[in-house]
Amino acid sequence: MKIYDIAFIGLGASSLATIKLKYSNSQLSIIGIDKEFNSSRNNFFAFWLTDWMESFESLITQKWNKWSFYYENGNITHTSNSRPYCVIRFQEWKKFCLENINNINYKERNVNKISKNDDYYKITLDNDENIFAKKIYDSRSPGIKKDGLKQHFIGQIIQTTKSHKMNIATLMDFRVSQEEGLHFMYCLPINENQILVESTIFSKNLLPNEWYKHQIRDYISQQLQLEQFEIIEEEKGILPMYEIKNKNTDNYINIGTRGGATKISSGYAFSFFLRKLTSNIDNYHSYWDEWMDKIFVHFLLNNHKTEHIFIRMSQSLTGDEFSSFMMGIADLKTKIKVILSMPKKSFIKSFISSLLS
Ligand SMILES: Cc1cc2nc3c(=O)[nH]c(=O)nc-3n(C[C@H](O)[C@H](O)[C@H](O)COP(=O)(O)OP(=O)(O)OC[C@H]3O[C@@H](n4cnc5c(N)ncnc54)[C@H](O)[C@@H]3O)c2cc1C
Repeated sequence: MKIYDIAFIGLGASSLATIKLKYSNSQLSIIGIDKEFNSSRNNFFAFWLTDWMESFESLITQKWNKWSFYYENGNITHTSNSRPYCVIRFQEWKKFCLENINNINYKERNVNKISKNDDYYKITLDNDENIFAKKIYDSRSPGIKKDGLKQHFIGQIIQTTKSHKMNIATLMDFRVSQEEGLHFMYCLPINENQILVESTIFSKNLLPNEWYKHQIRDYISQQLQLEQFEIIEEEKGILPMYEIKNKNTDNYINIGTRGGATKISSGYAFSFFLRKLTSNIDNYHSYWDEWMDKIFVHFLLNNHKTEHIFIRMSQSLTGDEFSSFMMGIADLKTKIKVILSMPKKSFIKSFISSLLS
């Protein structure tokens, strides 16, 4: 019976990162199991270019030194020359993480069950095959809480005949229907003839796919004013805006979204698991950032017309301050500016309930 040193359950972004950054030079025997290992998934991972992300700069598909927020009465544009907003695509990431790794076997299977024997784990696959390993990194997607706040979206890459401006990313455009929850469009000009247009909602209830697609169609015609385009790719996501805490032991480690890497106020996770891997810190997020995020999410859950707080926050910060806040490296002055930009009464209510929860 072969017992692997390590098994990766799920070979998504966080497992690939762990293989590359922790085990690429090891002699250990490794197995990676993913139910969709050979899928054509190619979503974008966005982040601001912090110092720990610089070593992945050559993988970046596109970067923007300016990003904007639009609302009914105007817009705000941030600029940062030192910390641009960037995207890496999943297939690029996968290739980079797995090239020249020879000590790993792959299985494209669903993991049905994991049980512990004395000093190793038994992993049962959907064809009843058993795999044995001494240590497990588990990144299987955690179940979605029905009553938890979620960020859910569909994004489409459109190919246009008319070329468009490349230099600004639109992070949030609130000039769209707000009937189903906090809703905005996210728009990244990928190259002169391709734009990623994403309809994103913060709410408890998921919507039929056609709803997001309809919003995208309307936005393309009304705001982007494009009549001729072709949809060439699509991505879809449901990200938790609530805390995920799974217990780790020395030999059973939950990673990525399952391990709590998602920043619950924004849905960003990619840069956070890379920071943990490259700097050997214990947690994905600092205690204070987690606490501020919980207050923020409580506020979103219990108030209407919450787009105003994103506007007020982005108005009160410079591009460098905003990116530092989003990447979990804000200084005290920036954090205070964020707190002061929140509506006082509702914010205090959310603060008190965060102490009680
Ligand atoms: C479309 C999309 C866009 C995103 N964009 C950004 C972004 O711009 N910036 C950012 O920071 N974050 C982003 N995120 C959030 C986060 O970074 C990603 O979800 C990231 O992929 C999380 O990595 P992971 O390894 O935890 O999970 P995943 O990458 O989802 O990997 C989990 C893997 O486990 C496999 N799996 C699940 N269950 C089983 C099972 N039972 N047996 C075998 N295999 C299984 C799945 O097939 C999958 O490959 C995005 C998420 C999505 C879905």
